[in-house]
Amino acid sequence: MWLITKLGWYRENRLSSLSRGGSFCVLSGTSGASVGQGTCPLVPEKDLERVICLKSEILRIREEALRELSELDRPEALQELKVKVLGKKGSLTAMLRQMGSLSPEERPIMGQVVNEVRSQLEQAWEKRSAELERIALEQRLATERIDITLPGIRVPRGHYHPLTQVIEEIEDIFLGMGFQIAEGPEIESDYYNFEALNLPKEHPAREMQDSFYITEEILLRTQTSPVQIRTMEKLHPQLPVKIIAPGKVYRNDDDATHSPMFHQVEGLVVDRGIRMSDLKGILLNFSREMFGESREIRLRPSFFPFTEPSAEVDVSCMLCGGSGCRLCKGTGWIEILGSGMVHPKVLEMGGYNPQEVTGFAFGMGVERIAMLKFGIEDMRLLFDNDLRFLQQF
Ligand SMILES: [Zn+2]
Repeated sequence: MWLITKLGWYRENRLSSLSRGGSFCVLSGTSGASVGQGTCPLVPEKDLERVICLKSEILRIREEALRELSELDRPEALQELKVKVLGKKGSLTAMLRQMGSLSPEERPIMGQVVNEVRSQLEQAWEKRSAELERIALEQRLATERIDITLPGIRVPRGHYHPLTQVIEEIEDIFLGMGFQIAEGPEIESDYYNFEALNLPKEHPAREMQDSFYITEEILLRTQTSPVQIRTMEKLHPQLPVKIIAPGKVYRNDDDATHSPMFHQVEGLVVDRGIRMSDLKGILLNFSREMFGESREIRLRPSFFPFTEPSAEVDVSCMLCGGSGCRLCKGTGWIEILGSGMVHPKVLEMGGYNPQEVTGFAFGMGVERIAMLKFGIEDMRLLFDNDLRFLQQF
């Protein structure tokens, strides 16, 4: 049959075969064509036959590439397939090399076919690539889903410890009266803690403070008073000296009203013409700001080695107002601090001439002020770190 017209046979039989993607002939170089896979009865000798053979092969490459493209599911496979078809050694690129066997008239037509197929394939690649990316993204979104409607864990908000609150309030009150804040070391020498404060060794008043000694000469400070000496040493002969010294102190005591570590705020004023009435005025103002406008104070004679004269300071009871109750043990007064005029020897130790300047000093326990202010009866509660207690302030 096909002897009558080869081309006619081709049109009737092979085109339908082509449309099913069948492979039938392969051209080898420019020397002619060989029968491929035993299905093509053509031996292409003329341009037209070669064109048909080439074109059918190109279409086959296209169909196969599109089929593989639609089946692959990894982006890496996409690239591998692209190299296999469109790369330098790819099957479609190889077809361009076959065109040498065509006549000059046929070449541009075949070139156009190859280029069209190439551009169709490139478009298909981009489309498939975008599809794969979208599928990968959807899979990630599905597996990495976070439920943002779940409530978070609320971080509890804390607040200052009642002692810190009281220290800051005391500082604020004295800063408002023109004082400055001074600090000193908690591990102190015997000299600053005792001797410079008119407490030489063997002085019986040392017995009032059961101390933690580290060596014979070094101890945990028993009071904030050493800061007075350190400040005067630093400032002299400058005037005035007007400081408060808040901080931790240490004594070997432990019961409902004593803790081995507690806080003091010490005050010191040195200037020309400082009198005891200045001390009283400052402390009255402090008591009213801390405990209420209607508070009164009274000074009772007392003894401290570093002040002369010395006085305990009582404030009128904040609970009963002075009429007498359980808090003030029926007296109407509550002791809040110790004070006095700075001893001349202490002024000298600090580098000032007691003939020219005078001063007053006072010291209070922060825990005692906090207990009075908040109505706390056991000092140990302040150090137990029990939130049920601390959250009340
Ligand atoms: Zn009272």
